[in-house]
Amino acid sequence: MKHNFCAGPAVLPQEVIEKSAKAVYDFAGTGISILSISHRSKEFQPVVDEAVALFKEILDIPEGYSVLFLAGGASMEFCRIPYNFLNKKAAYLNTGVWAKKALKEAKAFGEVVEVASSAESTYTYIPKDYTIPADADYFHFTTNNTIYGTEIRKDLDSPVPLISDMSSDIFSRPIDVSKYNCIYGGAQKNLAPAGMAFVIVKNDALGKVDRYIPTMLNYQTHIDNGSMFNTPPTFTIYSALESLRWLKAQGGVKEMAKRAEARAAKLYGEIDRNRMFVGTANAEDRSYMNICWVMAPEYKELEDEFMNFAKGQGMVGIKGHRSVGGFRASCYNALPMESVDALIACMKEFEAKH
Ligand SMILES: *Cc1c(COP(=O)(O)O)cnc(C)c1O
Repeated sequence: MKHNFCAGPAVLPQEVIEKSAKAVYDFAGTGISILSISHRSKEFQPVVDEAVALFKEILDIPEGYSVLFLAGGASMEFCRIPYNFLNKKAAYLNTGVWAKKALKEAKAFGEVVEVASSAESTYTYIPKDYTIPADADYFHFTTNNTIYGTEIRKDLDSPVPLISDMSSDIFSRPIDVSKYNCIYGGAQKNLAPAGMAFVIVKNDALGKVDRYIPTMLNYQTHIDNGSMFNTPPTFTIYSALESLRWLKAQGGVKEMAKRAEARAAKLYGEIDRNRMFVGTANAEDRSYMNICWVMAPEYKELEDEFMNFAKGQGMVGIKGHRSVGGFRASCYNALPMESVDALIACMKEFEAKH
């Protein structure tokens, strides 16, 4: 048995994989594959409609917001955000590679204030003391830093509307969407297979910039056309729908938050207990989603041995990002507790061997 700790594309519920596979052969009794059916067909439209409705229901999204499914990934949104929302000035919190990439794109559109950064310590913590300029159009932050294993698990207080990259912790806890002008992320971490971004946009926050926005980059285009201005990633949307059905049936974001906390408590508990390992992120900023650790200094040379040992026990994808090294276990919504237990057993066994 394999335990999938990949950072993204990542683990999906078995049920979602089975239903998606079935739809590849026969979608909704049409006798045609989901891979081959028109996005304009009467059978496909309900897929988008239900996915949007469930997305809004599960996250308790208030009236006045749109949910979009767009190709291009989270990285495309790094430029779409300032195109659509940055008129004069924006504030960004720099907590990692993705946050920095978002900030870099914004600079092409106006004044960008980096309110704080933890770059000097390889992003091992979340800066807390900073001031958000009250005349900024928005304040952008990355809720979960996938590479470094730090996370902001609350809807920050800010004098200006929030915009967040929630690629790797969407649906892992309740959020107060009303504080945000936009929430976006790549689908492939916590929701669906690769191939698209989800974007939640506050409708009346649009139309406030002076510049011309190219048609495909304009959120209004996609709102007006229900994510179907051009051909959307149909298969990914279908899998996302199955994932959303699964999320709802499991008990929604409250239940996901409980599971995330339980997985993280167990795994960090073992990292802290086991003399061979040390966690890399500042304790109070530890992510529930991406759990990062390295060998303790006196066991440094055993890193490859542990990696191979873990591989032999069925652990997949636990190699840390190249900028951090060591190990990273991504524990997304669909990761069963059995996988965490198996990894912990593996860490204990390795300790016993040495
Ligand atoms: C993976 C990731 C991205 C990049 O997503 P793409 O869909 O590959 O563009 C951006 N932000 C965060 C937080 C991520 O984890």
